Amino acid sequence: MKVSYKIHHLPFKHPFTISKGTKTHQPTFIVELDHFGIKGYGEAPAISYYNIPVEKMAEDLERKKTFVEKFAFSDPERYWHYLHHLFPENSFLVCALDMAGWDIFGKIKRQPLYQYWNLDINKTPLTDYTIGIDEPDIMIQKMKEKPWPIYKIKVGFDNDIETVAELRKHTDAIFRVDANAAWTLDIALQKIPLLKELGVELVEQPLAKDDWEGMKILFEKSPLPLFADESCVKDNDVEKCAGFFHGINIKLTKCSGITPARRMIQKAREMNMKVMIGCMNESSIGSAAIAHLAPLTDYLDMDGPLLLSEDIAEGVGYDYGKIIFNDKPGLGVLLK
Ligand code: MG
Repeated sequence: MKVSYKIHHLPFKHPFTISKGTKTHQPTFIVELDHFGIKGYGEAPAISYYNIPVEKMAEDLERKKTFVEKFAFSDPERYWHYLHHLFPENSFLVCALDMAGWDIFGKIKRQPLYQYWNLDINKTPLTDYTIGIDEPDIMIQKMKEKPWPIYKIKVGFDNDIETVAELRKHTDAIFRVDANAAWTLDIALQKIPLLKELGVELVEQPLAKDDWEGMKILFEKSPLPLFADESCVKDNDVEKCAGFFHGINIKLTKCSGITPARRMIQKAREMNMKVMIGCMNESSIGSAAIAHLAPLTDYLDMDGPLLLSEDIAEGVGYDYGKIIFNDKPGLGVLLK
């Protein structure tokens, strides 16, 4: 196995603002694994909130490159376990390598991953399209620029309810909101019923990630389903969320790849929780990995390639919320 990597800073079409800040570019770490001439690709975008910059991914990979390369690859799940022990502090790097391992595995099997897993791609939920925080006029303009069946609206600022009400005047699309941990319990109790009246279907991460006391109360009182994002990072967080959230938002980068994401989906099902699979503004490489898992989920938030103005690969198509798969093996992506 040979490993190489590249760092990209992919520009957003519009500056992207959530309750935690604004960015104009998405730094992302791309790995290529070469297994006897079969190439696999994986991706991990850096999210400052999780404190793993792309430079740290490069540094850790350089330091243990020989160990990554000497593994006798046969099965991606075994490879993930090996990587997980090799990089216990760098789940993002593990994610990129795990994804590339699955890409190679699918290519060895000559099947797209969804087919290898026997998934029915007709069960793939429609993806939402995210509207970042901005002046209401600009948010309306972004919505009009991209007619879409489901919008995810970033909230967690003063006048956020008034803004959603303003957007509602311009579309009948499904709305979901993401507060990115910005509300207190009192604010959430006051705002969520208003959002329900505005036709919002679910609320993502209303409270701080460790406000379990607040979540317990909100879980009992909220008229809308609540989804954990920042509160549900890794495998063992799924169980913690039961009784506090109605569902979880799994993201490959935070949980460290396709291998643990599959376990989390299974665990959530056992605990009777809904499953969303989300993105961290991945290019088409990371987005393809999300797409292959999407038929197993209830909600899909996979709009990275739509928000970015530059892509480094192709292979994922979008048609008004519907994901268009191809029948190429592995992740099914080609570098541009
Ligand atoms: Mg979120």
